[in-house]
Amino acid sequence: MNSTTETIGAAHFIGGEWMVGERTEQRFNPAQPAELVSLAPDADESVMSLAIEQAQAAQAAWAAMPAQGRGEILAAAGRVLAGRAPEVATLLAREEGKTLAEAEGEVDRAVRMLTFYAAQGWQALGATLPSSDDRTHLYTTREPVGTVGVITPWNFPLAIPVWKAGPALVAGNTIVLKPSSFVPATTQALLECFIEAGIPRGVLNVVHGSGSRAGQALVDDPRVAAVSFTGSTAVGRGINLAAAARMARVQLEMGGKNAVVVLPDADAERAADICVRGAFGLTGQACTATSRVIVTRADEHRMLNALAARAAAIVTGDPLDPRTSMGPVVTDQQLSTDLGYIERALTDGADVVTGGTASGRFLEPTILRNVDPDSALARQEVFGPVLSVLVADSPDDALHLLNDTEYGLSAGIVTDDLSAAMNFAGRADAGVIKINRQTTGTDVNAPFGGNRSSSNGLFREQGFTATDFFTRVKTVYLGY
Ligand code: NAP
Ligand code: MG
Repeated sequence: MNSTTETIGAAHFIGGEWMVGERTEQRFNPAQPAELVSLAPDADESVMSLAIEQAQAAQAAWAAMPAQGRGEILAAAGRVLAGRAPEVATLLAREEGKTLAEAEGEVDRAVRMLTFYAAQGWQALGATLPSSDDRTHLYTTREPVGTVGVITPWNFPLAIPVWKAGPALVAGNTIVLKPSSFVPATTQALLECFIEAGIPRGVLNVVHGSGSRAGQALVDDPRVAAVSFTGSTAVGRGINLAAAARMARVQLEMGGKNAVVVLPDADAERAADICVRGAFGLTGQACTATSRVIVTRADEHRMLNALAARAAAIVTGDPLDPRTSMGPVVTDQQLSTDLGYIERALTDGADVVTGGTASGRFLEPTILRNVDPDSALARQEVFGPVLSVLVADSPDDALHLLNDTEYGLSAGIVTDDLSAAMNFAGRADAGVIKINRQTTGTDVNAPFGGNRSSSNGLFREQGFTATDFFTRVKTVYLGY
C-alpha cells in the first residue's frame, strides 16, 4: 500500500506565472478524512479578469503558430504525463477517491487523448468548393474562436480538462480553466506537464476558486468567446442562460440517468458483469454510470441473483490498497445525497437487494428492487453507487422506461438478438449506445455527448467532432 501523505499547495497559473494567493481552500482525502491532500487559493473576480486578459493577449501569437507546432506541445505534455503516471495516479486517487487502478486508467486515457489531439494539428480543416463565378477560387477554412473558458467537474480531473483543452489548444484558442474545487492538486500536476512541454505564457491559464464566484465571472466576461462546461444539469442551465444573454458560444455536458436493458436471451453472468461494472465502477460517480437495469418480469429473479452476487464481490476500501475495487464517496454532502435517495426510495416502496448502508465515507454497492418508475430514485441522477432494478412488461416497454427520464446520455442493452439490438440502437434516446458493453467508458477518437437534459446538444465533444465547438468556419472567395 502506498503511504504518500504529502500536502500539495496549488496556485493559479496566469500569463505564465504562478500566483499563489491566500490558500484558504482545503481538500482532504475522502478515504482518510484527517489527511490534507491539497490547499488552494479561491479567486475573486479580479483574479479571473487578469487570467482572461492574459489569455487574450496570448491568443494572436498562438493562433499564428503552425497547428503542427501546437500539436507538438500537446504530444510533449502527454509524454511528460506518461513519465509521471504512477505519481499522478496516486495523487488523483488520494484527492478524488477513485481506486488506484481507476486512476491509472484515467492517466493513461489522458495521455492517449493528448496524443490524439496532437495529431489533429495535421488534419485537413477546410473544403474547396466549385465557384459560380469565373476565375474564383472558393474555399473554407476554420479559425479558432478566441479565448475559451473551460469549467470542469471533479470526477475526471485529468480526462475532462484534457478532452476540452486538447482540441481547443490545437485549434489555436487560448484557455482559462476553472477546475472543480475538489481537485486542485491533480489539476496542478496536469498543468505542470503542459509547462514542462513548453506551453507559451498566457495560452493555458488555471484559476482555482468557487463556481459561484470565479466560475460565474468566467462565464459572464465578454472577452470569453466560448464556454465549455461539464457538470451538473442545474449548474449547466444557469451557464446556458448567462452565455445566451451575451450571445457566447456554449457547450454543456451534464447529468445522466443511464439504463441497461437486459433481454431474456442474455447470459445472466455476462449481463450482471456489464451492469455491475457500469454501476459501481468509479463508485458510481460517472456521468455515464448505470443507474437503472431494466428487465422483463419473468427474468427479474434470475437477474437479481446474478447482480447481487456480482455486487457482493466488490471490495470497498482505501483507493491505494490494491485489494480495493470501489473507493469512497467524494464528500459527506454527496454521501448524504446518496443515502437520502435510498431512504426516500424505501418510503416509496422499494426494497434493498444488497447494500444500503455506509460506514464513514464508504457506501456499500447498493441495489434496490420494486423501484417505482415515477419515484425520485428512478428519475433523478444520484451520482453514487446506487442501482435500481426496474421491471418491464415487454422489450418495447423496457425501451419506453429507458427513455422516460429527462436525461439521455448513455444507454445499454444486453442481448445476442441482432434485430433487437439494432432496433434499440435506433430508438434509445441517448447520445451513446452500448450494445453488450457497459455504459461507462469511451474511446478517445469517438464523439461523446448526450441528448435532452444531458447536454445542450449543439456540439459533440471528443473524437473527430471535438474541433467543431472550438473553431468557426470562414468562407473565402478569391478572384484571380
Ligand atoms: P457541478 O457542481 O455542476 O460543478 C461543475 C463545475 O462548475 C465546477 O468546476 C464548479 O465549481 C463549477 N460551477 C458551479 N457553479 C458555477 C457557476 N454558477 N458558474 C460557473 N461555474 C460553476 O458538477 P460536479 O459536482 O463537479 O460534477 C458532477 C456532475 O457532473 C454530475 O451531474 C455528472 O453527471 C456531471 N458530469 C457530466 C459529464 C458529461 O460528460 N456529461 C462528465 C462528468 C460529470 P466548484 O465545484 O468549484 O464550485
Ligand atoms: Mg457539485
